[in-house]
Amino acid sequence: MAVTINPRRTPLIAGNWKMNLDHLQAIAFVQKLAWNLKDAGHDFTAVEAAVFPPFTDLRSVQTLISADKLQLAYGAQDVSEHDSGAYTGEISGAFLSQLECRYVIIGHSERRTLHGESDAVVAAKVAAAIKHNLSPIICVGETAEDLETHGPSAVPVAQLRAALAGVSNAADIVVAYEPVWAIGSGQAATPEQAEQVAAALRAVLSETLGQDVAGKTRILYGGSVKGSNIAGFMREPNVDGALVGGASLDIAEFSSIVRYQKHVAL
Ligand code: PEP
Repeated sequence: MAVTINPRRTPLIAGNWKMNLDHLQAIAFVQKLAWNLKDAGHDFTAVEAAVFPPFTDLRSVQTLISADKLQLAYGAQDVSEHDSGAYTGEISGAFLSQLECRYVIIGHSERRTLHGESDAVVAAKVAAAIKHNLSPIICVGETAEDLETHGPSAVPVAQLRAALAGVSNAADIVVAYEPVWAIGSGQAATPEQAEQVAAALRAVLSETLGQDVAGKTRILYGGSVKGSNIAGFMREPNVDGALVGGASLDIAEFSSIVRYQKHVAL
C-alpha cells in the first residue's frame, strides 16, 4: 500500500540524541549519516531529517553542515525561558539562533519528570523559542497511569493547550505526541492510538491558532519508533513524522526510518 503524504506538510524525522555522543563523535556521525542518506538517493525535500545533539556538539555540527552543504537540519534539546542573565547552566534561544539551529525540543517527558518542568515553564520556553526564530517541537504525552485514569487524549490535549498559552500568531511550531509509557520501552503505541491522539491535538491547534495553521502544523509520533514500525505511523493522516530516541543513535536504523517511503514492506 502506498504511503500518501499530505502535500501541505513535509514529513519530519527528528533524532533526539539525548546525552549521547561528544562533539568529535557527533562530527563523524553526522558525516556518515549524511553520506548514507545521499548514497541512498534520499530526497530531503520530500522527507526532512533533523538531528538534536547535546548543546556542546552544536557548534561542530553547524560548522560541518555549513562547510559540506549537508541537507540535514539540526536543533537543540532544550532552551532557557530567559534571554540572558544570572541563570547558571542555562542556554538562551539567542545563542541557539546564532548557531543557526532550526528547531528546539521543548517539554520532553524527561525534562518534565527529571527536571520538574511545569506546563507554565514549557509555555515560557515555547514563547522564548518563537521570539528567537526557533521552531519549537512541543512534546506532550500521557503516562501509563494517566492513560488508565483519563483515557488517551486528555493529558496530551491539556499539555498542548497550556504550551500554546502565549502563542498568538502563526508561528512555525511542531507538536510531538510521545506517550511516556512508549518512550524507551520497546512498546510503541499502535498507529491507530497515535492517530487518535494526533487528531485530538490537531483539533486543539485549530481552536487556538486557527484552521489554516492547524492544517500546516506537523504532528510527530514518538516512542520506540524503529525502521520496522515507522511506515504504519506514516500511513495515518494526522501523523507527519517521528521523534526518535534510541534508534536515532544507529545510522542504519535512523536512515531506514528517514527513508520509510522506500521500505519494501509498504
Ligand atoms: C524520546 O525519548 O523522545 C523517544 C521517543 O525515545 P525512544 O525512541 O527511544 O522511545
